[in-house]
Amino acid sequence: MTKRISVLGSTGSIGKSTLDIVRRSPVGTYQLVALTANRSVDEIVAQALEFQPEFVALADIEQEPALKAKLADTNIEIGVGPEALIEAARRRADFTMAAIIGSAGLEPTLAAVEQGQHVGLANKECLVCAGETFMAAVRRSGAKLLPVDSEHNAIFQVLEDDPKGVRRLILTASGGPFREASLEALGKVTRADALNHPVWSMGAKISIDSATLMNKGLELIEASWLFERPSAEIDVIVHPQSIIHSMVEYVDGSVLAQLGSPDMRTPIAYSMGWPARISAPVERLDFAKISGLTFFEPDTTKFPSLRLAREALEAGGQAPCVLNAANEQAVEAFLQGEISFLDIANVVESTLNAFVKFSSFGCAPDTVQAVLSLDKSARTTVDEQIVNL
Ligand code: NAD
Ligand code: MG
Repeated sequence: MTKRISVLGSTGSIGKSTLDIVRRSPVGTYQLVALTANRSVDEIVAQALEFQPEFVALADIEQEPALKAKLADTNIEIGVGPEALIEAARRRADFTMAAIIGSAGLEPTLAAVEQGQHVGLANKECLVCAGETFMAAVRRSGAKLLPVDSEHNAIFQVLEDDPKGVRRLILTASGGPFREASLEALGKVTRADALNHPVWSMGAKISIDSATLMNKGLELIEASWLFERPSAEIDVIVHPQSIIHSMVEYVDGSVLAQLGSPDMRTPIAYSMGWPARISAPVERLDFAKISGLTFFEPDTTKFPSLRLAREALEAGGQAPCVLNAANEQAVEAFLQGEISFLDIANVVESTLNAFVKFSSFGCAPDTVQAVLSLDKSARTTVDEQIVNL
């Protein structure tokens, strides 16, 4: 039977890999329902012409004339602005890939969740900024959340086979491009250095998060929500080869892991095919050629972002949302050349401190509007910190 699928964030790294799986599948396996992106008109138009979705939406309203003109000779419906993204996510699909970056993806992803169908969750920031609200929506709608983040996909796969007697989850981290850099060298890191990840090829924001280790911090919070585990039961270990994608330790001392090449098309295919397995065009592991698997304790002095994320998870309330928004804003400032690499974590920490001072972390925001308003005020605090640097 043809599967109706939507891709939110189709022009990004995860979005394109998702469409690559569709492209390689036998004709008739998938029918594209909706594609969305921020503002890349030419790219989404090329995708629309190739995959013939029913609906295409761009967040940036200024792109409307170009989008209209370029799809004028087709039957594809178009929309622009944040509401159009939500409309795209509401169109009936059997599977939606949620691959927008950042808290900008929260409302569209929730709209997909509300359909009560299968949702491939790549957009980890949704769970970090709105964990409680998001998981409540999942329970209410009966949607099946399929983690796409490779670590969470690995744990999901392990727990599907053996969910009983879990003692702890072990998230693996590549350690990013600066694993062996000195603190002094980190002070001189450029945008290009930080975007150059040794193992994974990803969008700009998550590449910077991998370099600061904030990505692992966000994943810690993501894992806590997805698998209902407290911080104390989730460990992080640096594993530079990124072959073990994560592990689960059981009460009897057994540790089960999922392994594979570092290629997101494996977890993407797993989420698209679930509960079946579908083929993915990835390099196969050749164990005879793997020279070794190594593991290290993460260095939270050099990479304070991981410590900050754990503290935010343990503090609860508003802290994870503030952490996430502050990080998004600080990463953007780094990408724009406004702050240094080490200042990303400094700014996140001082923003968290400002919130503790002024309002304490209180209760978690319990509506989407409350999440978005807290997100906005954390970003304003970041801007104020940057001016004072
Ligand atoms: P990306 O930057 O390559 O793509 C992001 C997509 O979202 C693009 O289609 C872009 O047009 C769209 N977008 C950006 N800002 C938007 C906005 N304000 N409103 C609406 N749409 C917007 O990002 P990516 O690397 O594909 O990552 C997507 C998500 O998947 C992130 O949450 C990331 O953490 C997660 N993830 C990515 C990888 C990876 O390998 N790339 C791995 C694990 C998890
Ligand atoms: Mg990951």
